[in-house]
Amino acid sequence: MRIHSFTGAIGVTLIASLLLAFTATTQAQTPAAAGVQGKTELLWFGQAGFRIKTPAGKMILIDPWITGGPKTPPMYKNDLAAIGPIDLLLVTHAHVDHLGDAPAIAKMNNTKLYGPADMVTPLTTLGILPADLGHRFNKTGRVTPLPGIKVTAVQAEHSSLLVWKNPATEKMESHPAGEPMGYIIELENGFKIWHMGDTGLFSDMKFISEHYKPDLVLIPIGGNFTMAPDDAAYALRTWVKPKMVIPMHYGSNPMTKGTLAEFQDAMKGSSIKIIPMAEGETVQF
Ligand SMILES: [Zn+2]
Repeated sequence: MRIHSFTGAIGVTLIASLLLAFTATTQAQTPAAAGVQGKTELLWFGQAGFRIKTPAGKMILIDPWITGGPKTPPMYKNDLAAIGPIDLLLVTHAHVDHLGDAPAIAKMNNTKLYGPADMVTPLTTLGILPADLGHRFNKTGRVTPLPGIKVTAVQAEHSSLLVWKNPATEKMESHPAGEPMGYIIELENGFKIWHMGDTGLFSDMKFISEHYKPDLVLIPIGGNFTMAPDDAAYALRTWVKPKMVIPMHYGSNPMTKGTLAEFQDAMKGSSIKIIPMAEGETVQF
């Protein structure tokens, strides 16, 4: 497993955070203030699945398609417990490559699954998720599920259908599951990650970026269901303009043909730092 560090890329942010931490710790040692000295670590499982270790050591899991993911490293694919304890679970929409193992992981950790309101409702009414483990919210809604961590739901231009095998009839059923979302995840030190979920191009990407100012964007590039490499590059260069980007949602489905090389080519000459990841790889900020 390779571990990369991108501390230099956000050095100014970190120095500011450390100064803030020093000021805060001279007054009172709050968990959030103590945590800003830690690093942020991202682990990619493939597709849109990430585990984020926050500066205070909390674990956030997003779109965990683990046991069914064709590129999931075997240590996780064969044992969900290998992911470790999870403090916050986020799902962007109901498609299997995003909802994946989330209900099972919510139950394993006794942790709430945060997701689009009208996705969480059928999960609980159908008995897939216990009602007390679902948190319903919607676009522009902001939650603070852990000290110092804010998650804001934002637009994603996609669809969301829940396909489920009814155990009573043994038949597959399709259930409406609301609208898909992306998430702006602000960590204890102010570092902001925009997980775009699955999305096509929409011009309010500009508004979202100007309003929330993400440092790091996780962007789908595979095409067919989402932006392809050229459209993702257009969005980044024209509207989003983050410091750093991690391409995702490619290479796991034969229909999503977009490649990392095409994305890098489409981004040529841009000052936005591309951080390519392999499944199972970890990066630090
Ligand atoms: Zn997807």
